[in-house]
Amino acid sequence: MSEQFIHTDGTIIPVGVIYCIGRNYAEHAKEMGSELSSEPVVFIKPATAHAMTGSKVPIPNYSNNMHHEVELVVVIGKDCNNVSESEAMEYVSGFGVGIDFTLRDVQAKAKQSGLPWATAKSFFSSAPVSNIVPLDKIEDADNCHIELYVNDNLVQSGDSSDMQRSVAQLISYISHVFRLRKGDCIFTGTPQGVGPVSSGDKLMAKLNDVITLDIEIE
Ligand code: MG
Repeated sequence: MSEQFIHTDGTIIPVGVIYCIGRNYAEHAKEMGSELSSEPVVFIKPATAHAMTGSKVPIPNYSNNMHHEVELVVVIGKDCNNVSESEAMEYVSGFGVGIDFTLRDVQAKAKQSGLPWATAKSFFSSAPVSNIVPLDKIEDADNCHIELYVNDNLVQSGDSSDMQRSVAQLISYISHVFRLRKGDCIFTGTPQGVGPVSSGDKLMAKLNDVITLDIEIE
């Protein structure tokens, strides 16, 4: 079975390209010692990075420092080419909450050497996503609340109102640079509070108290 986005209204869409946005929250950029950038920071994960709620996520054997980054995830429901910000939401099928797992040690080495982030960011199961809440059940894309608990402790909490670039701006931008296809999704960036996970940790992410993502670290 290939990877799928399962919506709470029963809609099922196969997972396409997973687009991820870096440095979209000022406080997270600050905790990483990074500047907010004038153009969006975009990287990509393959569909094999997707994992369902209830999955066990292994830490790759070439890292000793896997971090959680909780993020609002937007799923694209229709092919989308060169759209304006005002039209962007017409292409959304729904929203979920995801974790952009990041091998911080591998990423730091890549940054230092000016090399790509793929092995630090895009490995197997590095992008678990909750089931998807259909767009009509989300009151305001720019006022979504996300939280992450590790072993019942709240470690990250953020609001999409604090994003440097809105959901509509990100869809418009990606639809011009790459084009978007049904089943693609966008991880919209993480708020502050990222940190390491260990084998046996239980993670629970929430979106607006309507949907949760449960993951165990293997
Ligand atoms: Mg991220």
